[in-house]
Amino acid sequence: MLCRQFKLFTRAVVAIDGSKFKAVNNRDKNFTVAKVAKRIEQVEASIARYLAALDRADRQDGDVAEAKTTRLKEKIEGLRRQMQALKEMGKQVEASPDKQVSLTDPDARSMATSGKGTGIVGYNVQVAVDAEHHLIVAHEVTNLGSDRAQLSSMGGTARDATGWQEVTVLADRGDYNRDEVLACEGTGVLACIPKTLTSGNAKRGLFTVADFIYDAGNDRYSCPAGKHLTKRKVRSDRRDNIDHYRNLTACSTCGLKPRCTAYRTRAQWRSGSRPSASVPTVQRFALL
Ligand code: SF4
Repeated sequence: MLCRQFKLFTRAVVAIDGSKFKAVNNRDKNFTVAKVAKRIEQVEASIARYLAALDRADRQDGDVAEAKTTRLKEKIEGLRRQMQALKEMGKQVEASPDKQVSLTDPDARSMATSGKGTGIVGYNVQVAVDAEHHLIVAHEVTNLGSDRAQLSSMGGTARDATGWQEVTVLADRGDYNRDEVLACEGTGVLACIPKTLTSGNAKRGLFTVADFIYDAGNDRYSCPAGKHLTKRKVRSDRRDNIDHYRNLTACSTCGLKPRCTAYRTRAQWRSGSRPSASVPTVQRFALL
């Protein structure tokens, strides 16, 4: 309210992203189906190792062998108790809605972080920051590992906090989710977000989807060679009709073809259920 009174939210543009915050919950006190299975496997291997050592000790005489036998039996007993506890934990994990249990902080969840092979037990805090003064407009603490389900709800919260009827929301690819973009439609949340790159074309030095510009007025694409790819036929997948754009004649003589496609022609695919004319331009951009 104070920020609104000081007219600090004048641009109605916010940026949203998530940050992973570590919880006060050791990784060893967090259990998933895979972790329980792995620990059971490790305990089974330890028990087998101690049982083999016990067999060897039983074949020896003397006080030293006897003491060793007693120590090994205690260790095996301890591991069997551990195994029992793990099996109980396995039942709890299976019964929990998201198949995960954290003992110290029950709401914390195991989630991957950006570093390869790293992860934390914690929270994914969604933050909306105003683009002009970088003030935090809204935040939400979630225990979902991914940002992909947050765009519409965070956008709505940020819109209410800024006091604008419409707010432009900037986000990175990590937030891209087609259903979330569509959920923003008509709510005053104008999502501006790059689509997730699922093809490896950029790494192979080939043109990507972003190099093909869609012309809504003429319902066609312009390719990097400046040719027009027009709609050829409609294919149906499980969710939508998919429109198919290509220009076989242009591709057959194109000097850029080695950077474009290994096939006879390059095709662009586009969802047949495009947004209505009332959907703002920035939002349409996200759907391309
Ligand atoms: S190969 Fe076809 S689609 Fe690709 S740049 Fe050339 S004309 Fe355009």
